[in-house]
Amino acid sequence: MSQRKFYYFDNNATTRIAPEVSQAMQPFLTEFWGNPSSAYQFGAQVQKHVEDARAKIAALINADPKEIIFTSCGTESNNSAIHSALISTGKKHVITTAVEHSANINYGEFLRKQGYDVTFLPVEPDGSLDLHLLEKSIRPDTAIVSIMYANNETGVIFPIEEIAAICRSKGVLCHTDAVQVPGKLKIDVKNLGVDFLSLSAHKLHAPKGIGLLYVKRRTKYLPYIIGGHQERGKRGGTENVPYIVGFGRAADLATEFLHDENTRVRALRDRLENTILSTIPNTFRNGSKENRLPNTTNIAFEFVEAEAILLLLDGVGICASSGSACTTGSLDPSHVLTAMGLTPMRARGCVRFSLGIYNTDEDVDFLLKHIKPIIERLRAISPLNPEHPDNTNYDIDAARIKHEQDLAEALKDEKAA
Ligand SMILES: *Cc1c(COP(=O)(O)O)cnc(C)c1O
Repeated sequence: MSQRKFYYFDNNATTRIAPEVSQAMQPFLTEFWGNPSSAYQFGAQVQKHVEDARAKIAALINADPKEIIFTSCGTESNNSAIHSALISTGKKHVITTAVEHSANINYGEFLRKQGYDVTFLPVEPDGSLDLHLLEKSIRPDTAIVSIMYANNETGVIFPIEEIAAICRSKGVLCHTDAVQVPGKLKIDVKNLGVDFLSLSAHKLHAPKGIGLLYVKRRTKYLPYIIGGHQERGKRGGTENVPYIVGFGRAADLATEFLHDENTRVRALRDRLENTILSTIPNTFRNGSKENRLPNTTNIAFEFVEAEAILLLLDGVGICASSGSACTTGSLDPSHVLTAMGLTPMRARGCVRFSLGIYNTDEDVDFLLKHIKPIIERLRAISPLNPEHPDNTNYDIDAARIKHEQDLAEALKDEKAA
């Protein structure tokens, strides 16, 4: 990696490991390498740090430490909650939404192929859910409702407290994927009333490859990974001690940063969004303005393709994304944006900027300085632009190919300059 500075606006994809976190992990990568399950001092000492971390993370979401199961990632947490609900109830129906992370969308598709019935609830144009529709979708054979707390692509927040209340009234288990939430909103599992909640450490300045599943006391949980008696028999496999310790430190930081940092990040996000929308014509915000995470903005740039914008941004060192990192690389438009009713064409022109605690005013100035000329340049060569002279007898496939060729040229120029 070069020492070149990156301007990072992709914090919903992953976050930088906080120096405090890597520092807290260090001793567990060097001297404290004992197995926490071992009875002797050298192991027991390590076990104590695992339990300290568990207590810190439990405090972050107002849970009891006994309600926390460490997993390998947010994806495992989501899959295992749904898996447990299906086998513990013996029921065959799962309700989720059309805008979930691919962790749920693709698990739902997988379950369908295994003979389960999965409902993907639609959303309104502002990304919100119709709770009456949710209520009507719950059936006697529904095992679980799994609905994300906040959307990774648009930041739109779902009313989990109300959703959990509906589930309780119908006697159905309720899971929420809260991976995008810590450090941005206060999470209180006692108020939320969910049975299961997923988190992933790498979205809150800790390493990738560690997550957790909160399981409410007295909610039945059947393990997904079966082996040793780790995690009170709820997840086999020797604990990932350094990462668990890092996750614990990150949980403390997330609580510390919740107020002041969040206010600062929101102000940066708002300045970025307002400036783009007011100075670049034919741009639109996707998703509710108010009911949204403070760090996320998802913007439609008409007549250009996000892939092109991202390439040119990358050329000047700006990291952003279209849709979720997991679907980047495919030409399919975002399933979240199309579920919100965007045409595939408009959905292909959307870019997500997700900010974090390490973003500065200078970063936003840099992005604002580059984004407008990049959009203008791409629009000038875009056959999707109605002002383009070649717009008559418009052939979408030919246009796309030409567009890509023009882009390659534009990129070459950019590199040469
Ligand atoms: C990142 C993310 C996940 C997946 O977490 P991993 O730890 O990468 O498996 C799940 N849900 C949401 C909303 C996410 O943003």
